[in-house]
Amino acid sequence: TNKAHINYQLILEQVFDKMTGLENSGQVATYIPQLAKVDANKLGIHLIDSEQSHYSVGDACEKFSIQSIAKVLSLTLALKARGDSLWQRVGVEPSGSAFNSLVQLEYEKGRPRNPFINAGAIVVCDVLISEYRQPKSELLKFIRALSGNAKLSFDPAVAESEKRTSYRNNALAHLMKDFGNIDNDIETVLDLYCYLCSIEMTCQEMAQTFMYLADNGVNPLTGEVVVSSIEAKRINAIMQLCGFYDEAGEFSFTVGLPGKSGVGGGIIAIHPKHYSVAVWSPKLNSKGNSFIGMKVLEAITTISQSSIF
Ligand code: GLU
Repeated sequence: TNKAHINYQLILEQVFDKMTGLENSGQVATYIPQLAKVDANKLGIHLIDSEQSHYSVGDACEKFSIQSIAKVLSLTLALKARGDSLWQRVGVEPSGSAFNSLVQLEYEKGRPRNPFINAGAIVVCDVLISEYRQPKSELLKFIRALSGNAKLSFDPAVAESEKRTSYRNNALAHLMKDFGNIDNDIETVLDLYCYLCSIEMTCQEMAQTFMYLADNGVNPLTGEVVVSSIEAKRINAIMQLCGFYDEAGEFSFTVGLPGKSGVGGGIIAIHPKHYSVAVWSPKLNSKGNSFIGMKVLEAITTISQSSIF
């Protein structure tokens, strides 16, 4: 097929300008003390298309804490190790409740609804600890290869800050351990979880890292098969249904792409076979998603008239 080549640069510049006037909307996350220190007015957007052309505006080359966006990467690594048996431990249904909620876990006997709520990501970390002798370095190795940046890393200040205030994640882990869905030592599992969430990247690195989901599971930098095309489809599907806390419906409705957000104010969105786009703006709406980030992505799919629907 002859895909008309779209110049996304003009679209990104137009979208960036449209955001003036929204600077005061939303609040930076403060429940992890280290995250409260970020410059709240940053805005970066970076898009990579299927021909590996890069388009960028604003603070797209500044590092930020990717937080829950990393849960897509831990899921991918766990799927590579476990295949379909992973789904015995964690489901694929939207939760319809907050990302750190305890209630459903009690009803569902310790099997989290999906791998992107905290409980689900904690189970995935438990699996990674069972599978790999050095799960932290394995994770970094995996993410560095995807991003093309061999220096990409954790932010220990953010990880330690979260560990000190992780009461709720502790509660989730203990409840699941009681139900028999955590195999390893709880402290080790939560340590990996907090380090996972502390990974820092720029928008440019993030858009690159997630290109495998726009490219049928292949890392376009190396040609390496990261996951099968079926697994890439499934990961995109879970992002579509569960990527935005209790606002996944709204994101589908306004943006129309699979994606994942984090409380650091980042969002990654994928248009399979077309592009991957990362946006970062730290102020969050009441559901915990980047206020301006949601608007940016809505404007991109509206102006370019392209979404998966
Ligand atoms: N590390 C954060 C937590 O567990 C992740 C939150 C998020 O980005 O959704 O609370």
